[in-house]
Amino acid sequence: MKQIQFEYIEDATLRQELNRIDRWRENHRVTAILFHVFSDNLEAEKIRHVTSLIEFALPDALYVGCTTSGNVMDGRLNKSHITITCTIFDDPATKIEVIQMPLTEATEPMVSQQMEKIVADRPWLKAIEMLVTIRGLSMTKFCEDLSKIDENIKLYGGGSFSDDLNEVASFVYSSGNDCSDHAVVFTLMGGDNLSVYSEWVTGWKPLGRKLKITKADHAMLHELDNKPAYDTYYKYLNIANDELFFKHTLEFPFMYEHNGIDILRAPTACLEDGTLVMTADIEEGVETYMAYGDPWTILEQVNSVGKKLSVFEPQAIFLYSCAARRAFWGDNGSNRETSPFQDIASTSGFYTSGEFMRTGKDLNQHNVTLLVTGLREGPVTGNMHNFRIKDHSLDGQASLVNRLANFVQAATEELELSSITDGLTKLFNRTEIQHRITAANKKYSASPDRIPAPSLIMLDIDNFKKVNDTFGHHEGDIVIKRIAQIMRETCAQAASDISIGRWGGEEFMILVPKLPFDDVKKLAETLRKAFEDEKFEVSGSHTISVGVTTAVAGEHVDVFCMRVDDALYEAKETGKNRIVVK
Ligand code: GH3
Ligand code: MG
Ligand code: MG
Repeated sequence: MKQIQFEYIEDATLRQELNRIDRWRENHRVTAILFHVFSDNLEAEKIRHVTSLIEFALPDALYVGCTTSGNVMDGRLNKSHITITCTIFDDPATKIEVIQMPLTEATEPMVSQQMEKIVADRPWLKAIEMLVTIRGLSMTKFCEDLSKIDENIKLYGGGSFSDDLNEVASFVYSSGNDCSDHAVVFTLMGGDNLSVYSEWVTGWKPLGRKLKITKADHAMLHELDNKPAYDTYYKYLNIANDELFFKHTLEFPFMYEHNGIDILRAPTACLEDGTLVMTADIEEGVETYMAYGDPWTILEQVNSVGKKLSVFEPQAIFLYSCAARRAFWGDNGSNRETSPFQDIASTSGFYTSGEFMRTGKDLNQHNVTLLVTGLREGPVTGNMHNFRIKDHSLDGQASLVNRLANFVQAATEELELSSITDGLTKLFNRTEIQHRITAANKKYSASPDRIPAPSLIMLDIDNFKKVNDTFGHHEGDIVIKRIAQIMRETCAQAASDISIGRWGGEEFMILVPKLPFDDVKKLAETLRKAFEDEKFEVSGSHTISVGVTTAVAGEHVDVFCMRVDDALYEAKETGKNRIVVK
């Protein structure tokens, strides 16, 4: 594989480059020629003109392309409006095909169905690149549908865009197809000796506490924790809703888990009611974090992806990087994370309106992300080129931002824990254990046939007032801490998902989500016995009374809790130091 990159300056220079490629074929083996034509402006006439010159000079070559928010040539942001990457494949087994299809919400199901068929007919396929016009379209369904394609095939690509971030129009185009503002261009690549590497990196990290997305609709993020979403930016980061909103929030997009990986979503605008318009769909009901990006952390993560890529020994690298990253770094700064790739292999690409990459079987739409893909024909040789970010900031120490963010993260975790636990026993507090019982009860009632019934064990120390009165409050505290420790150890041995809470002074509630009821009863007896056997240096031995019950599908959580309370009461009434099951 060989790659040549050049700028379109004028027809004469383009013809020269094309002739050079044509002559190359005279004494080299060439199985396919694929051009990527990137244009950072929307002059369709100019694009048609350039691609017609390619078609004329090299009729059997293929081309694909799109408008962009910046072109990357030789690993760097290039200032000419049109840049061209020519990839020459030379392995006889390599196959390349280009398919363009109209893409709207209405045609989306047909496009993905057709792709499934196309893939089934081409056993040689290894990877599919897609260039797609996404602005204004929800891509969630498209991604879900394309995820049905054979999971051994890599899927990746980017959304077309424009130099002007507020412009909604953009085009894709390809061999035999005109510029279209509603289409997807698939480049099918494969053959026995073609290998494809794909990886993504953000470098952004979560910051602060979890926020629940309580109201969202497609790309509209209405509410976080039941409050207007914008309030979060104002409260925590003091970001005003003015003309610089987009620029300021870029450094702090939202991060949430989707298909098992962290996805970023940045707001592009803020409406009067506090709704944030996001770069792509965001899910209602999920938990999210604000994330922060700082150069040091980002470069460090890009560095680790680059090192992995170098081992793959790519012969050509394509980058699909979010326009938000270009805005984050500033025009010259963005080269800091893209140019080191050029040391491994010829690197080109563009700044996108959204990035697509398959992780496992799922195709995900990313934002604020850098996708890195590498192509190689033939085996690795062992002569890899080293990837190294030559940036003096990496030789020094972690940035101040990084350290502060770390501090915030650690402090938040401590706060989050202290807000749900009890100070004396370090067990869950009453609010938290109640919350967990409610959730378990609801979950069981929703599908009683599929999940085991949760059970409760409630216990209270017998004649505890006497301990306080005779030996003092301090000794009372020691006894309470010891029963907490016994519960922790005994429950951990029975199951890993048991939650223990302090219900009141020396009264405790244990939620056992899954154990069969017989085992729950055994656990209660083990606890009773363990505490009875404990000898306290000052106050001697003590006992507990225990109530045990299991959930009935459909009952109110208060009824569930009252039943175990009744059982405990009965244990007290009938002599203490015993277990009553209800
Ligand atoms: P019973 O067998 O009926 O449970 O009798 P009891 O004496 O244990 O009665 P009860 O459960 O009502 O007593 C609770 C006592 O626990 C009252 C309160 O002073 C004491 N207590 C509550 N919280 C704490 C604590 O954090 N430390 C100490 N030392 N005592 C506490
Ligand atoms: Mg008591
Ligand atoms: Mg009590």
